[in-house]
Amino acid sequence: MNNTSDRQPLHIDSCSTVVARLDAVRDVMRAEYCKQHADPWIVAYSGGKDSTLLLQLTWEVLLSLKPEQRRRNISVVSNDTLVESPLVINHLRNSLAVIRESARQQALPITTTITEPCVDQTFWVNVIGRGYIPPTRNFRWCTDRMKIKPTDSLLEKLLLRHKRAVLLIGTRRSESQNRRRTMNKHGVKANKMNPHDNLKGCRVFAPLADLDNNEVWMILMQRRPPWGGTHRELITLYRNAGGGECPLVLTKDDAPSCGTTSPRFGCWTCTVVQKDKSLRGLIDAGHEDEEKLEARAEFREWLIKLREDDENRLPVRRDGSYKFRADGSRVRGPFTLEVRRDILNRLRVLEKEIGEPLLSASEMIMIEEIWRIDEIRESGRLSLEKMLQDSIVEETGQEAMRA
Ligand code: SF4
Repeated sequence: MNNTSDRQPLHIDSCSTVVARLDAVRDVMRAEYCKQHADPWIVAYSGGKDSTLLLQLTWEVLLSLKPEQRRRNISVVSNDTLVESPLVINHLRNSLAVIRESARQQALPITTTITEPCVDQTFWVNVIGRGYIPPTRNFRWCTDRMKIKPTDSLLEKLLLRHKRAVLLIGTRRSESQNRRRTMNKHGVKANKMNPHDNLKGCRVFAPLADLDNNEVWMILMQRRPPWGGTHRELITLYRNAGGGECPLVLTKDDAPSCGTTSPRFGCWTCTVVQKDKSLRGLIDAGHEDEEKLEARAEFREWLIKLREDDENRLPVRRDGSYKFRADGSRVRGPFTLEVRRDILNRLRVLEKEIGEPLLSASEMIMIEEIWRIDEIRESGRLSLEKMLQDSIVEETGQEAMRA
């Protein structure tokens, strides 16, 4: 055995059950990795506690093997929505840099990739460009565009190259009732692989399925990451944010854990939740960037207010159609161009306040392109709307005269 982590002094000797369960998880993973085929492993890594433990165990399995046995490549895949909570994305990017360098030094077959939404599907291009209202529970357009699609497209590329792959995820039954239900529905077991819902040739492996929260924390607190450093930053992040994990969302079934009312890390712009407990948690804990975090939190709350005022929205939907609620009231369309310009101006002010860019040059080009087309469309639709209103008024007037 050549496992450096196994050689580290363990302070969990007294917790022999956890040690035994951890060994059992690693044995299952090792047995899978040592199979004769060459299907690569793809490890979903969000930087949160579960995926950190998953990557740590993956690494430990590799170290327990002789170099010639490390035949299968391992791709660590992460996602950046480009509006991630700043501390979370810093932690993710910093940890990935260390992981990359350490894998190179230890000559392990591990590579890392961060997926991002296409430039025409980012949060700002949809909100400022197309005027989409910031996401709600019923209109959560963001998860698919900013998380699922970018990652799916990377997985498709890997599958095109390798034909088959094993996707390792850190999901656990005890995360939530919802998670337990979904995992049971799909028959997920720690020692069994299930076919991926959409990606042919991809099998999903969830070796942590039966670990509970305490076990995960106990292991992380007692064992150093085999890529170097400690888990201190991760633990502090959770402690201050009082949060759970917004995982790498891979399917629509995963999506409810992203943007729920539980205090999870997610996008700092997330308006699916009324109160962003993780951002507020960091502010209340007196984080050194408290003022900058407060400025972001206020911007997010302003976005929610904007969304709730019908006057800010066009009377028709983007495709020109009308939609009515059961009570006959009209469902409003996207933000007016004036409101979109206002959001852009406020975002520029926020960038100055926090001293960080929030909108890229390519997003700005895309926004201007969409506005150029929408200006023509919007004035056409508004004049049609006016003509419609005028004709209703005229008809009502004529009917009144006839009566
Ligand atoms: S955290 Fe919120 S805004 Fe971000 S993808 Fe999830 S639901 Fe959407």
